[in-house]
Amino acid sequence: MAQKKYVYFYGVSKELTEGDQTMKAVLGGKGANLAEMANANLPVPPGLTITTEACAYYSKTGGKYAPEMETQLKAQLKKLEKEMGKKLGDAKDPLLVSVRSGAAVSMPGMMDTVLNLGLNDKAVLGFIEQCGNERTGWDCYRRFIDMFGDVVMGPYTGLTHHDFEVELEALKKKYKAKEDTDLTAEQLKELTEIYKKVYQNKVKKPFPQDPWEQLDLSIRAVFGSWGSERAEKYRQINKISGLMGTAVNICTMVFGNMGARSGTGVAFTRDGGTGHSKAMGEYLIDAQGEDVVAGIRTPKHLDDMPKEKDPVWKKAYADLQKIMARLEKHYKYPQDVEFTVQEGKLYMLQTRNAKRTGLAGVRWAVEMASGVDFFTGEKQPKILNQKEALMSVSGEDLEQLLFPVFDIAAEKKAKIITSALPAGPGAAVGKIMFEAEDAEAAIEKDADEKIILVRHETSPEDVGGMWAAQGVLTSTGGMTSHAAVVARGWGKCCICGAGDLKIDYKKKTVTIDGKVYKQGDWLSLNGSTGAVYEGQLPTQVSPVVSAVVDGNAAAKKDPIYKMYEQISKWSDTHRKMNVRTNADSPADSAAARAFGAEGIGLCRTEHMFFEGDRIWAIREFILADDEKSRKGALAKLLKHQQKDFEGIFKAMDGLPVTVRLLDPPLHEFVPHTKKDQQEMAKRLGVPAKKVTQRVQELHEFNPMLGHRGCRLSITYPELCVMQTKAIIGAACKVAKLKKPVKVLPEIMIPLIGTKAELDFLEKIVRENAEEIIAKTGSKVKYMVGTMIEIPRAALTADEVAETAEFFSFGTNDLTQMTFGYSRDDIGSFLPDYLNEKILPADPFQTLDQTGVGQLVKLGVERGRETRPDLKCGICGEHGGDPESVKFCAKVGLNYVSCSPFRVPIARLAAAQAAIKG
Ligand code: PEP
Ligand code: MG
Repeated sequence: MAQKKYVYFYGVSKELTEGDQTMKAVLGGKGANLAEMANANLPVPPGLTITTEACAYYSKTGGKYAPEMETQLKAQLKKLEKEMGKKLGDAKDPLLVSVRSGAAVSMPGMMDTVLNLGLNDKAVLGFIEQCGNERTGWDCYRRFIDMFGDVVMGPYTGLTHHDFEVELEALKKKYKAKEDTDLTAEQLKELTEIYKKVYQNKVKKPFPQDPWEQLDLSIRAVFGSWGSERAEKYRQINKISGLMGTAVNICTMVFGNMGARSGTGVAFTRDGGTGHSKAMGEYLIDAQGEDVVAGIRTPKHLDDMPKEKDPVWKKAYADLQKIMARLEKHYKYPQDVEFTVQEGKLYMLQTRNAKRTGLAGVRWAVEMASGVDFFTGEKQPKILNQKEALMSVSGEDLEQLLFPVFDIAAEKKAKIITSALPAGPGAAVGKIMFEAEDAEAAIEKDADEKIILVRHETSPEDVGGMWAAQGVLTSTGGMTSHAAVVARGWGKCCICGAGDLKIDYKKKTVTIDGKVYKQGDWLSLNGSTGAVYEGQLPTQVSPVVSAVVDGNAAAKKDPIYKMYEQISKWSDTHRKMNVRTNADSPADSAAARAFGAEGIGLCRTEHMFFEGDRIWAIREFILADDEKSRKGALAKLLKHQQKDFEGIFKAMDGLPVTVRLLDPPLHEFVPHTKKDQQEMAKRLGVPAKKVTQRVQELHEFNPMLGHRGCRLSITYPELCVMQTKAIIGAACKVAKLKKPVKVLPEIMIPLIGTKAELDFLEKIVRENAEEIIAKTGSKVKYMVGTMIEIPRAALTADEVAETAEFFSFGTNDLTQMTFGYSRDDIGSFLPDYLNEKILPADPFQTLDQTGVGQLVKLGVERGRETRPDLKCGICGEHGGDPESVKFCAKVGLNYVSCSPFRVPIARLAAAQAAIKG
């Protein structure tokens, strides 16, 4: 049997490189992209990648290497040593490597990098000899001890970077050094000895001198970090599942800490916050990678690089720009790269798809496909076609364009208490909290709590708290620090590097500009400008909402609105499925239409019963003793309902409107406290006892399975009569206006389980509709159909379709009844089900395609066996969920229907479904 390959080689040449970008699942994102860059002959320091399968084996066996992994690693390491002409741990000319983790999806929750692995007391001298720089040698060795101690041994021993940092600060003080770079070789050598003692004190063993032991422990640390609590949490929050594990990258070191002609940095080919097409990045001269990312030293802006004194920087900058342009074109996606310049020569250490806000995602898509900057009108290279652009944007991205921003006038007046780097855009208002755990706990207690997490810097274990917060504010770190990268990925408001902040974690206070703010005090952050305000600033709707819903002319000129418009237009060009909306008022209908809705898929008539005084008419109906009094009460409702429908038909002129007959159980319309019942009795002029008694009669053990939906109209046909009269009466009236409205009413009967139920009510609907049409001499055409929301209706869809002219899948109830989970009570056990991965997601949010989806598919198929042109749609909440929308397209629904603000998202998802085919 062929041996499984666990260790891949990359670099030196295309011929020697094994693997490419398509192998992310096995090589991890970093490993696959390093191989891809090596294949493209980009300057990548050679190295090895241990596969994610090896990690899976290690996790499964509780810490054993896969058979053959070690032999393969040793053989590949030999090859690397041969190619580099250096040996790991060699006293004369040692090979130094970095060890890094990298899963198929980038995950800040896993192990960080260990640099300079292979150094020991002897090898450091050989390394100094070779590089001719004593300072670099000791700097590398002390960094190695620090990183190895913190990252590899820390999880077991409690040793942290901070333990080393304290010593570094003390030494700097002793020698009056301002920056780390001011320390001499001799002083760094002294620091190395101190670091070894720090290590020995906590680990209770001397720092390992054997390079194989160093490597072995590091690989185990990477594998182990896959199952760490913080990595698990990150995967859970980001809904990452189905990955085998992390790969381990062992990369030949290049050195950014070799003096003024060396340095290291990170860059984004485009701005991940605003989406601007200019590359942004940060670098540090005479430094190693972690100095930039960890926010220890404040890095310089990439734009300053060509202005550096030494001319090597101009060339390095030009090379970097060229490579970044090439990478963006190659990957068809903006990249986030890490690079090192060693004595003037540029090396690429990593590339990956850049994390970004939703705004940046939409901007990248429209600009890369149109070749135009939406803000300045300037031309730029066309990299994507329309379909590629649409596929690169998600529903969540588009949703972010509908997020609120600060009220402009209020923000102008407000005092900026400090400002720093705008790391994640949007407006955030919340109460100060200093610990991520506290933020998480507060949200658990009250989901509506608004929090601003204030910290020196965030780390991967803070991700839960960052997620819980409205916004994040840090005192250190740049645009590429942990807080910035994570927040941007989520589209969360974030401001970084606010050096003015004096945080006292113990007292739970932060002092800004001399003023002390306590935990619980309000702050407002503008993540797009970096401004921090005291108190709660009012927010205002996004330009998209302002332009679409309010028709604001100025907002229509806003580039953000134009981007939204472009994506929506392209979506409409490619999608095959219609998008309707769930709306029950003329205002909502108009807003939805402006968002692109092509009709109403569900008008829940009961919502109209709660407006103004109408509730009293329905209560009168409920209390009535006989049909005559019930009809009397309904007559009062009729005129209101008819008016509502007239408004909706006008708003949807020319588009279909599906109106559903009354659905909820009647107990939802009566009061349940004694006081309110007394008020009802008084108002309706009946004894209080009568009200109490009727409320008791309406009590059901399982109201969701009780007297609701079509069952109500079967008991009280006069309800169905009144609603039909209101719908068709309104339709005939507006169709006859001077400026006639084109009406396409679709009357929908809810919650049927048998054809007989539908037949019973269809007859009443048709009789009454025809009577009005005849009476008014109108030519209004209408349809009668049903909701498919009971499994039996789906199973017998062929019979149901003999009567129904259309189906609308009510997947809220269909999910409830297929799973047997109550819509109202699932909250008590859903968190356990999600934690234990018994359910992959809340089935009321994302359609369960395997189970409930089968009923939808079967319902469509059986229904169309009887009636080939049967119009099928969905009006459950899933109609606005991108994954569910794609499923609906696959099973051949004619439309999805969702809330007005989800319409643009559904349009995009429908286009993506059509493009994917
Ligand atoms: C449904 O059940 O999916 C539906 C749309 O109806 P309601 O949510 O009103 O029960
Ligand atoms: Mg329903």
